[in-house]
Amino acid sequence: MFREFNYDTQPIVEIVNEIIADAVKNRASDIHFDPTPDKLKVRMRIDGDLVDYAYVPEVLKKNLTTRIKIISGMNITESRLPQDGAIKTELDGRPLDMRVSSLPIVDGEKVVIRVLDYSTSLKGIENIGISDVNLEKVKRMLALPNGIILTTGATGSGKSTTTYAMLSELNKPEINIITVEDPVEMKIEGLNQVQTMSEIGLTFAAALRSILRQDPDVIMIGEIRDDETARIAVRSAITGHLVVSTIHTNNALNTIERLLDMDIERYLLGTAISGIISQRLAKMLCTKCRGSRPATPYEKLVIRKAIGIEIDNLYTPNGCPECIGGYRGRIPVHEVLEIDQDLKDAITNNRPKEEMRHLVYGDGKTVTMLQDGLKKVVNGLTSFEEILRIIDIESDFGDDDDDEMKLALMGKLEVDENGFVIGESKKKEQEAAAALAKQLGQATAPAAPTPDTFTPLIDQPATETLAEPPMPQQTGQQPETLVSPVNETQMAPQEVKTPTFTEAGYEIPTEEALSFNQGAFGDLGEMSLDDFDDFD
Ligand SMILES: [Zn+2]
Repeated sequence: MFREFNYDTQPIVEIVNEIIADAVKNRASDIHFDPTPDKLKVRMRIDGDLVDYAYVPEVLKKNLTTRIKIISGMNITESRLPQDGAIKTELDGRPLDMRVSSLPIVDGEKVVIRVLDYSTSLKGIENIGISDVNLEKVKRMLALPNGIILTTGATGSGKSTTTYAMLSELNKPEINIITVEDPVEMKIEGLNQVQTMSEIGLTFAAALRSILRQDPDVIMIGEIRDDETARIAVRSAITGHLVVSTIHTNNALNTIERLLDMDIERYLLGTAISGIISQRLAKMLCTKCRGSRPATPYEKLVIRKAIGIEIDNLYTPNGCPECIGGYRGRIPVHEVLEIDQDLKDAITNNRPKEEMRHLVYGDGKTVTMLQDGLKKVVNGLTSFEEILRIIDIESDFGDDDDDEMKLALMGKLEVDENGFVIGESKKKEQEAAAALAKQLGQATAPAAPTPDTFTPLIDQPATETLAEPPMPQQTGQQPETLVSPVNETQMAPQEVKTPTFTEAGYEIPTEEALSFNQGAFGDLGEMSLDDFDDFD
């Protein structure tokens, strides 16, 4: 990963091009240029973590930053104020969109380039790593003529990818889709996309009020951030529109609570909301080097209790030149809630949280984030440790301190070597697990891999009973479903080649591209866009 450039001879233009090309090749979501007193540290965020990439000598610090500011359309004479810019270019014939931000810090200007990649969204809803059971639910929600579908998750949980994939699914000539976004992250043909500009009064709420007069069928609201936007979303849904939006919460139940805290009429909210898709990202095990290890009694217990499967071994990360610490790419873990009549009534009547929890998760109605994640563990897509990392015990489980799953996850149950709770009848446990497996649509538990005859579970027909998404390898899809901007052949080390940027070098940002942040471009001084050419 770490790269040494020949800083004495290589032109800065070339170095910047190579940094960007490497970022794309390595599936980086962001490139960080951090000034320190004696150098410029370049780091890349890959699969969620920052990795050191290069140290640029002090003498070139300013030149390199200036070059990035030029190609992203920033004012290079201004280094004391934060700026925003955009880069549009092409890499190996593939369009590349990047958003750039600069921030003056004590040791210089820190620049961050966000690489926008929506190739996954365009592959359609079937190919975003969603399980068959959950996909069916999402398709039912999308088939409704009205209602609100919310995608929830923290920043960087891939909720934009899921939202755009849903819009692509709805995008047909006979349907009028209007979006209000801040910012418009990806332009999709056939969609009417509005960019909010709060500095001139074009807020989410203001844009939405106008949109309703534009005869829309489907409305996409980038994010529900305030009460007024939420109210307009609800009104739009009950007047016959399908509303797709996102909200910053971490699971289905928390989303309902968050909405109930907002200033919206409860009976309207109950009527309007049709589904909630919660999402988190887990790192994917590298299929080139993943291994197997015996499961601990505690892991056996958690997997039996959560998904009714008996295991002896688990897949484990190793590490090879093609991955970072045994992981490569990320896969989403979902919790998809269809709002049924009981739940609508409970929302309207503002029932207590624990009753709401039962309506959401009771009777196995919703495959929980933990269950969806553990199925992906058993199938070798991710590791047990990763799922444990993304599960939030406090908010994903109730206040009920006797909740066995909660105790099991916290390792607070006393278990024997086979993962059975000491004192509990083994037979009763096994019957309960079998019933759960049946309920989750698993005919029989798959044979667990043994170290001797270890073959990846994905190649065994038994896993088909798990109702899991097909493994990437089987469909020719890349393992890094959410983030990979390049295909497998481009990634292969033997095919490393110099990227071909557009003939004229970087495409100078258009006014349109610059409008990612109107405020930052208020003062370009004496420069015109044409001047940027001269700096090459
Ligand atoms: Zn590997």
